[in-house]
Amino acid sequence: MTGEPDDVDLVDSLRTTLGRLEVALDAVAEAIVWVDEDGRVSWCNNAFDALLDRMRLENLSMDIVELLPLADDDGPLQRDQHPGLRVMGTGAHHTATYHLLLEPRRLVEVQASSVRAHDATQTILLLRDVTERVRAEQEARHRAAYVEMLHEVAAHANEGNDVSEVLRHTLDCVARNGHWGFAQVWLPDARGDHLLLSDPVYASDAEAFASLRAVSLSLRLGEGQGLPGRVLQAGTPLWVADVNQSSGVRTRIAKVHGVHGAFAFPVHVRGRVRAVLEFFSASVMPRDEVLLSVAKDVGDQVARVFERADADQALRDANDELEGRVLARTAELGESLALLEAERETLRLRERAIDASTEGIVLFDVTNALQPIQYVNAGYEAMFGWSRDELLGQPASMLLGNEPDPRSFEHLARALAKGHAFKVDGEVPRRDGSPIWVRASFTPLHEPGGAVTAWLVVDSDITRQREVDRLKNELVSTVSHELRTPLGSMCGFAELLLAREHPPERQRKFLKIILEEGRRLGNLVNDFLDIQRIESGRQSYAMELTELPALVQEAAASFGGLESHTIRVAALPAPIAPIRFDPARIRQVLANLLSNAIKFSPEGGEVCVAISSRPGWARVSVTDHGIGIPYEAQARLFTRFYRVDNGATRKIGGTGLGLALVKALVEGHGGQVGIESQPGAGSTFWFDLASGEDAEEFPDLFA
Ligand code: ADP
Repeated sequence: MTGEPDDVDLVDSLRTTLGRLEVALDAVAEAIVWVDEDGRVSWCNNAFDALLDRMRLENLSMDIVELLPLADDDGPLQRDQHPGLRVMGTGAHHTATYHLLLEPRRLVEVQASSVRAHDATQTILLLRDVTERVRAEQEARHRAAYVEMLHEVAAHANEGNDVSEVLRHTLDCVARNGHWGFAQVWLPDARGDHLLLSDPVYASDAEAFASLRAVSLSLRLGEGQGLPGRVLQAGTPLWVADVNQSSGVRTRIAKVHGVHGAFAFPVHVRGRVRAVLEFFSASVMPRDEVLLSVAKDVGDQVARVFERADADQALRDANDELEGRVLARTAELGESLALLEAERETLRLRERAIDASTEGIVLFDVTNALQPIQYVNAGYEAMFGWSRDELLGQPASMLLGNEPDPRSFEHLARALAKGHAFKVDGEVPRRDGSPIWVRASFTPLHEPGGAVTAWLVVDSDITRQREVDRLKNELVSTVSHELRTPLGSMCGFAELLLAREHPPERQRKFLKIILEEGRRLGNLVNDFLDIQRIESGRQSYAMELTELPALVQEAAASFGGLESHTIRVAALPAPIAPIRFDPARIRQVLANLLSNAIKFSPEGGEVCVAISSRPGWARVSVTDHGIGIPYEAQARLFTRFYRVDNGATRKIGGTGLGLALVKALVEGHGGQVGIESQPGAGSTFWFDLASGEDAEEFPDLFA
């Protein structure tokens, strides 16, 4: 074929094509090399030169096994295993990834194909540098594993509330994924500037790390001390490929026990390191950037559990505080309840005391125009005849009766307006209209600000007091009159006697009158003194066994010789034994009764004195036929200063003391007095004295 023009054209064309092919092969990224049967390089492209970092010409004819030293995971390839020779002449293909044992080390993917050309066997090797791809793949896998680990930690942190448990689980995850043999946790002390070892621990081989753990337990690491202290200071994860190269506190132990790699990272909560997780390995650990970057995220996940625990604790604290406060408040309430109960009891007692008071107590409100009555005690009910229910809520003016005297009403209103406590005496109608004299004490009740909100009125019944006052006033005028009358006549008759000479009978008459009036005056004064003595309890009795009939005779005789009246002593129905009494006082009693009998029978007539007896008692009665005593006056006759008030008695002088004295003296002897009377017909006054055996029952009383 050579020499022929067609052939020449063909050869040219082929050359052109070949040239183009070579250019194309030089342009591809894959390294291509042809190996002949002897294992020598027969051709290679640019990429192959670049892969080996050599000149192409140097490569040609080089032994492929020497030029391209490869290793698999088990080590450098045997000659017959080298892809340049492996498929030679077999017609087979082989693809595998090998380490290219040239600097810089490369991972290459090799495709070996056995071809036949020009009756010779050759191997074409296609090499691709996959170092970067594999590294990227590995890193991606590595990162994926850590991301998965992070998810696991996060999932656990999501569910777990127990900080210790979550820490233990996190140690576990990180250690297993990062191939750490041992891990533990450091927690800050109360002040937060030192770290102490905590319970959670991970150990794939507990024995190997036991000493490290024991030493760690005894440490208290400040900022910058040891790996945890440095993490506390820096606040970031730290990596030590081989602790034997460092000079930490635990280095000696690490050396002795074959500990090499170490790594630690912090857990930050609100800007403060709350835990440091520390990992150790028995091997030297090349710095793992992926783990270092993931560690921060792991720390953040664990931090959430701390935050939750803090929140829980805060909630529990708040709860405890609340519970404490509730308890304290309950106790306080209990106390105040007890106090309240005690106060209520005191109040009840006071109310009972107020109710028991005989004084009438009312309270009315003045914050309301109606001035409603707010409180009425039992004393008031009794005093005025109103029931509490009738008064409560009614206007206070009701207390003054239906038609109060406008003057006293105005007077009261003026006093109330002044707002000061005051007392007023007045006659107030009861519910039935009957009047009662009261002394009302008005006391204002103030609100804290000072304004008067209510008035407390305490009414004392002064009817009796007023009666006594009235009687006393009357007594004073009576006494002065009674004293003046005899004095007047004594002086008058004495003057008459002195003025000029009188016939002897006249003189006698005047002197007799003067004597009588003198006696009357004397009696009056004596009565007074006696009353005074009895009132002051100073009366004493000179008791002696006395013949009563003889004493009666004697008394009657002392009133004898009157022209107007006859004094008769009735005959004794039966003899009577002597009785113990004070003869002078009983004589006084008799004298009073006899003088009254004479005085109050102005028409004259007989006055009869009789003695009667029944077992244990002797009775002396004085009967007259005088003016008598109206029935309604009889009950009060023996009270002091009492005198029947009618025309007849008014004409007859007296003090109203005589019968009171009689009663007091007889009762002083243990006896009684009594009266039977018919107005216009006469009266019988009697008194009983104890006699005989029965009287002996009270001898001491009279001793
Ligand atoms: P006095 O005789 O000084 O008035 P008494 O105490 O002796 O005081 O008597 C009180 C009143 O009793 C008398 O004022 C009179 O009204 C009435 N009285 C006393 N004795 C009699 C009597 N024998 N008959 C009628 N009235 C009497």
